[in-house]
Order: sequence, then C-alpha cells, then structure tokens
Amino acid sequence: MNETWTWLGVPLASFTILCVGFLVFFAAERIVPLRSPRSPFARRLVVNACVSALALATAYLVVTPAAMAALREVSFRRIGLLQWIAFPEAVEMGVGFLLMDLSFYYWHMANHKIPFLWRFHNVHHVDPDLDVSTAFRFHFGEVAFSAVFRVVQIVLIGVTPITFALYEIVFELDTLFQHSNVRLPLGFERWLNKVLVTPRMHGVHHSDVWRENNANYSVVFSWWDRIHRTLRLNIAQARIVIGIPGYLDPANNVVGNVVVLPFRAQRDYWRTSDGTVVERSDSETALPRNVMQA
Ligand SMILES: [Zn+2]
Repeated sequence: MNETWTWLGVPLASFTILCVGFLVFFAAERIVPLRSPRSPFARRLVVNACVSALALATAYLVVTPAAMAALREVSFRRIGLLQWIAFPEAVEMGVGFLLMDLSFYYWHMANHKIPFLWRFHNVHHVDPDLDVSTAFRFHFGEVAFSAVFRVVQIVLIGVTPITFALYEIVFELDTLFQHSNVRLPLGFERWLNKVLVTPRMHGVHHSDVWRENNANYSVVFSWWDRIHRTLRLNIAQARIVIGIPGYLDPANNVVGNVVVLPFRAQRDYWRTSDGTVVERSDSETALPRNVMQA
C-alpha cells in the first residue's frame, strides 16, 4: 500500500461510503420506521449535524494521522501479535479483523464503565431518539481519547494497513446501520443478528433503563456480547424510551449544552427530574434475554 493511498485513499473512501450509507439508511427509515420519534426531527438533526461535524473533524485531524503513524510503525518494525506469529495472509487478515472488533467491544464497555469516559460517551446517549443521524454524534473529546486507544489497538494487534482499511469500512457501515431507525422483518433481523449488530439490538443499548444501556456493547459482530453474557434482546422496541433519564428534558439537547455537558457537574444519570429511577422488570417479557423481541 503506497503512501498516497494510505494518506488520501482511506479517508476519501470512508467519507464516500459514509455519505452513501447515510443517504440509503436515511431514506429507508422514512419508508419503514422502527420506533416512533419523541422529539422534533429538524431540531435534533441540527444538533446531531453540529456534534457529528466536530467529531468527524477530530477523527480526520487527530485519529487518522495517529492511526496511520501506528500502522507505519507496525509495518516497519514488525511489532504486534500478528507480526510475531507467521500466519498465512488470509488468516492474518481474518484474525486481525476479529481482534480489531473484540478490542472495540472492550473500548465501548470502558466508555460506559469508567466514569470519566462516560461523561463524554453520555453525549451520544443523551439523544432523545435514535436514527442514522445519531450514528456519528459523539463528543469530540471522546473521539480525541479514542486516538490513544486506536494506537494501542493497532500496535498490540500488529494489524496491517489493508486489514485496518477493510475494518474501517465495515465498522462505518455497520455503525450507520445499527443506529438507523429501519424496521426489518423480525425473522430476517433475528437471523442477521446471529452475526451483526442490528437496529433492534442497538436500540436496547440506547434504552433509558440502566441495565439495558449496559448491555449490547458489540460494534460489528454481535458474538462478543453473546460470549461475555452482556446480550439483551428481549425488550420490545415500542416499550423503549431512548435517552438518559437525568437528561430527558429537551433543553439538554441543544448544541451549546451538549458540547459543554462532560465538563459540567453530572446529574444522577438514571433518575428522572422527579427523582424516579427508571427500571423494567423481567416479568414484562416472556422471552429469554437472547431472543430478539419485536
Ligand atoms: Zn454506548
């Protein structure tokens, strides 16, 4: 892979894929919506566009150069797990792809479990509805911190530029897909979810119930939640309130407040303004945790 492709090709290809994927899912969720929205769409779209623009700018200015530098170090010095083990090229790509995705599962979980990181990741979850416009609505601080994670991830795994580029494309497409508000036939989505994170699965992760929010951390393959027993699929989408109870007031979801939210005193995330802790008992569903509800 030459320098021009490395420096220009990957960001350009991924940007084009982002735009096309966004438009496809944006159209699909207008035709077959999954959940009914709670808040005015145009107002949300402005907030999500501004927050996403800051996130994408940080990704291209900070994360991409850091990742490219790490990829170069891995190639030149032959460091990292996959550089030490002499796998055939196809096996190396497959294992690299899986390890990239597994490490993202842990990074996503860390963003929920470590209070400092959660301050920033909370900005993604405060969105009162979930659709394709939420997909890249991350606080720029979270994106900047992820540069450190990406360097560690690339260097430890010893991933090659081609595997990295392939993973980026799949990662971006599935991120758009799982956040989209597209209603797929239940039988088809259950089948697809055996492999990939899908809209109903990720919808549960955006629920305002703490233990549902702390489930379904997988990023591309849904296997990691199955293996780590963090999978929760048996919640009907019609019963899910998207958002974080402490920040449900629409006044929280304006650009200025969202950008400064991590730097302010944090509220009790899981209590609404009247002090109620949002919960849902297992008796509300007849299905086991690992069976997707409509
Ligand atoms: Zn999350």
